[in-house]
Amino acid sequence: IKLNEKALANLDPKRVKIFKYDRSKVTAGIAHIGVGNFHRAHQARYIDDCLAIPGNESWGIVGISLGDRPSSKAKAKAMKDQDCLYTLTEYDAKGKPSTRIIGSIIQYLHAPEDPETTMTMLVDPAIRIVSMTITEGGYHLDSEGNFQSDAEAVQADLKDPEHPKDTFGYIVEALARRRKAGTEPFTVFSCDNQRGNGDVAKQAVLSFARLRDPELAEWIEKNVSFPNSMVDRIAPTVTEEEAEAVRKLTGIDDQSPVIAENFSQWVIKDEFCNGRPPFEKVGAEFTQNVAPYEHMKGRMLNASHTAIALPGVVAGYEYVHEALGDPEIHRLVYDFMTKDVIPVTKGPDGISLTDYRDMVLSRFSNPALKDQLVRIAGDSANKLPTFLLPTINEHTEDEDTSSRDLRRMAFILACFRRYLRGIDDKGHKFTPIEPHISKEERAEWGSENTEGFLNCRILESLGLADNEAFVKAFNHAVSLLKPQGVLGALRHL
Ligand code: NAD
Repeated sequence: IKLNEKALANLDPKRVKIFKYDRSKVTAGIAHIGVGNFHRAHQARYIDDCLAIPGNESWGIVGISLGDRPSSKAKAKAMKDQDCLYTLTEYDAKGKPSTRIIGSIIQYLHAPEDPETTMTMLVDPAIRIVSMTITEGGYHLDSEGNFQSDAEAVQADLKDPEHPKDTFGYIVEALARRRKAGTEPFTVFSCDNQRGNGDVAKQAVLSFARLRDPELAEWIEKNVSFPNSMVDRIAPTVTEEEAEAVRKLTGIDDQSPVIAENFSQWVIKDEFCNGRPPFEKVGAEFTQNVAPYEHMKGRMLNASHTAIALPGVVAGYEYVHEALGDPEIHRLVYDFMTKDVIPVTKGPDGISLTDYRDMVLSRFSNPALKDQLVRIAGDSANKLPTFLLPTINEHTEDEDTSSRDLRRMAFILACFRRYLRGIDDKGHKFTPIEPHISKEERAEWGSENTEGFLNCRILESLGLADNEAFVKAFNHAVSLLKPQGVLGALRHL
């Protein structure tokens, strides 16, 4: 059955769950920029549950795509063909699926084809939240958190601010028009996976606005809120094979199905300047301080993902669950979290870090997600400094580190160096997805020069090359890795 509004009545409720609310009564209250898999598996699912609570019909979502590639156009057509409906298949830790239809996205706008309708929507007083998942790169901030005002997209929108093409151009122009019309502003709600995502969005919006009109920037600073939130759910890329499996499972011909683990977490700072849906009634948590949750997630979950992916790729594995299924890699990651991370990490009050560790390992073992190791290892240039290096620093910053056990952390960095060479232990070549490391840097960092590697741009500030204990641990890891490969080395580490 092709998926659309009309088909809903003919779907088999034993194979797929269908929302109970009357979709014809739902109106738009949220505009979301960047309707990728994650948004459709996370926020749109929470809203789908909110809409089922009477009185919340005004919190439907309008999806907005700013992409000008042919694939964005094709996606917009697929969404329209299906009346913006899609299947979300959630797999439990044992790989058992459960599919539901998500109806919370009620309209989809492809901004390059329809810029004025998009702007009119953002200016409409009914829109009270503008949320986004535009990836980390979409915020135009450099590694020090400075706004890159010379970025091409920023410059283009500054030249013609009334006809923007980029996220911040749209947001600032919409806020300018709302201010002029005396309309309340909307909350700007980033749901991207980065620390202080609300602060990051605020920095980007205000920086852009200041370049355009300082007075407008001041008004935004005073009147618009930018809540921080910690988002967590694995929503991998859906391959044709997985899409076919969903079709077989449900009998529904969905052009753009989404799959996810059945775990989901959303911790939000309650700071919405123009109202919000009752997220707390559908599983999200509100807190005044998101930072301890982000801290725990970054140091434990994200760092472990890297600790699986770098050795996993070099060992020749393809998927996260496969690599973690290897007892040597499992032990490395378990010990890394238990002995290296937990003793130097403070989580949110009342949360046990050992329970959190066990949950992370169980989630990563999910065989149905087929999460690719190269995707997780990708952009290590940004992930290592954010997630792993702070833990290494905790163990190496003291004057005397000779009593510290640095083996696992040094081993992971040695695997990073091996990964940069793009060849695994089985002799297969692969291409590291490292958009922030130049070709020359890759060759240099991947060479045998230990001092050069430990002093490379992303490791330099830790002073590891001058730390005798760390150099010793690193050389030990390398001496095992070279002749024995990842798995052999881990047996003797
Ligand atoms: P995706 O590739 O499916 O979607 C990304 C979306 O962002 C697309 O719609 C794309 O058009 C849009 N986009 C990209 N760059 C943009 C830009 N500069 N301006 C405006 N829109 C832009 O990816 P995804 O899996 O949905 O992930 C998106 C983000 O969600 C990630 O970057 C991450 O911050 C967060 N996230 C993802 C997961 C996951 O497991 N997939 C988990 C937690 C958080």
